[in-house]
Amino acid sequence: MLLPPLIGHLETRHRLAQAVRGDTLPQVLLFTGPTGIGKQRLALWLAQLIFCERDETEPCGSCRACRLVAGLSHADLHWFVPIARPKAGDPDKQVDEAAETLAGVMEERRKRPLYAPADGMSSHSIASVRLLQRRAALRPVEGERRVFIIGEADRLVPQESSPEAANATLKLLEEPPPGAVFVLTTVDARRVLPTIRSRAAPIRLHRLADDEVRRFLAEHTEPRWSSEKIEARVEVADGSIGMALSEGEETGKAYRSAEQLLAAVMEGRGPALERALSQATYSARGEFSAMLDALAETLGEAARGTMGQPVRRNVPQPLLRHRSPGPLLQAMEKVVEAREAASGNVNPQILLAVLGEELAEVL
Ligand SMILES: [Zn+2]
Repeated sequence: MLLPPLIGHLETRHRLAQAVRGDTLPQVLLFTGPTGIGKQRLALWLAQLIFCERDETEPCGSCRACRLVAGLSHADLHWFVPIARPKAGDPDKQVDEAAETLAGVMEERRKRPLYAPADGMSSHSIASVRLLQRRAALRPVEGERRVFIIGEADRLVPQESSPEAANATLKLLEEPPPGAVFVLTTVDARRVLPTIRSRAAPIRLHRLADDEVRRFLAEHTEPRWSSEKIEARVEVADGSIGMALSEGEETGKAYRSAEQLLAAVMEGRGPALERALSQATYSARGEFSAMLDALAETLGEAARGTMGQPVRRNVPQPLLRHRSPGPLLQAMEKVVEAREAASGNVNPQILLAVLGEELAEVL
């Protein structure tokens, strides 16, 4: 399976191509713009353009280099995405573990190139950053150029808000190795550390046209969507292919909110939890109940995980650190109680605030 084509962003493509051909491309770029519009896809396109054996304004798509990038197997392309924090205690082993996890993600993307957003607990931990440094210190394999993509660069600050990972990256971005290009992506530049932001040339990307989203869905959904379904999704997608693919799947949304809430709960009582609770707003009671169901399901999965059974969906990693299912089952009980209360005439916001505190206590 090859990458689906890059949609839209024609002006930016043109500007990037001019810079590549004129040898004026900055070595550190920061792509910003809404979720699901193809920021990382554009970074891959840029990699293709840089490596392409022909000197044109678009990658030819058929030379060896272009095909290697499209198959995510170009030796000088290093795509870093947020992953679960390694479990190993030894720092060197952590780096090896991060490398393995990343390789697994890439293998998955080769099979299913339309991927869902990273779960709330994934990050670019210090192990990923050490891996990045390790790879940056190597020589290019194929030619003289290398491309490093750091997707969702705002996740460079690890959970415990240790600035270590970000600082290590900073050193690399201050003096990038010759021939290396770093492309960072984020929804909002303000979420990236100012020190990193100040070293990167900003490239703002915008929502796609509805027609671009429509055409993509018509050509790349598998099995093909009906035109009614496509229209319905285009309407809610707000110019984002990613949103069009995931929105409407209410359950997907519910699970993502549940994951975010659990991630905040695992940080304990404090600003993160308060923020999560105040941000979680529900326009419909059904939406709130769906999130509670997702919460119970996720805790149930984590409980299975602690008993050594296979976990079938994304579970925030720290939940699996519980040695026994006890606390997770207790947490599930609290959610079930809240679920019952939610069917009555209770304000979801208040209910959630109470539940958040209860979960923080037992988990
Ligand atoms: Zn080519």
